Amino acid sequence: MRRRVMAGNWKMYKTIAATSAFIEGLKARVASVDHCEVVVAPPFTALRAAAEAARGSKIRIAAQDLHWDREGAHTGDVSAGMLAEAGATHVIIGHSERRRDHGETDEVVNRKLRAALTGGLTPIVCVGETLAEREAGATRQVLDRQFERGFAGLTSSEFSHIIIAYEPVWAIGTGRTATPEMAAESHRYLRELGRRGFGETEAEGLRILYGGSVKPDNIGGLMSENEIDGALVGGASLDVESFAAIVNYPRARSAG
Ligand code: PEP
Repeated sequence: MRRRVMAGNWKMYKTIAATSAFIEGLKARVASVDHCEVVVAPPFTALRAAAEAARGSKIRIAAQDLHWDREGAHTGDVSAGMLAEAGATHVIIGHSERRRDHGETDEVVNRKLRAALTGGLTPIVCVGETLAEREAGATRQVLDRQFERGFAGLTSSEFSHIIIAYEPVWAIGTGRTATPEMAAESHRYLRELGRRGFGETEAEGLRILYGGSVKPDNIGGLMSENEIDGALVGGASLDVESFAAIVNYPRARSAG
């Protein structure tokens, strides 16, 4: 059984003080959680504070990006080793906002992914189509391209350390959520790509999170799909009650 992951992506929100207070509050609310992993991705400036506040708890800390080099003349960038030193165990790669704001291509995603794996961080790699692409019936082609180029050259063993987040761009921050069925269909397709590229065992073990306007009131429906192995949550992860409600979604089955 794949262990689910509930990850909060804070984007460019929260000070160091607000981060520490949030993590303290979340610790109490997830202390008895064992049905999923809990990950929080604060901005770079608050990584260290988040990791310190989370010490001794089940909460894991993710960065929102990294550079592919170990060090060098890259103003404004941060390497995998620096993130790990600050206390991050995970890193989000290829979020659509980075693709949009910083022109990140699938090739860049691939370089960052390799750097994360080399640096011992668990990558959460975002893929997903825009509204125009969905309406043109091109969702699978987009996923094909992002998968093929983003994961190019990885070994099956490397692939088995990756988490994918399926985030249809039209659902991010818009209040429009993919239905559980729509998300599950794309997740099934991504798993099939994993099977073809890396093998049956790796595909079956691959965790695929859904992201796009996940809220406490729609998480239950999404998690009723066995294909959906958790969520990457933006806006609703900024409020501790709301994120804790998502982590503690109503469970009818003994979810792993
Ligand atoms: C995200 O930032 O990855 C995201 C899915 O945002 P939201 O939940 O706000 O749509």
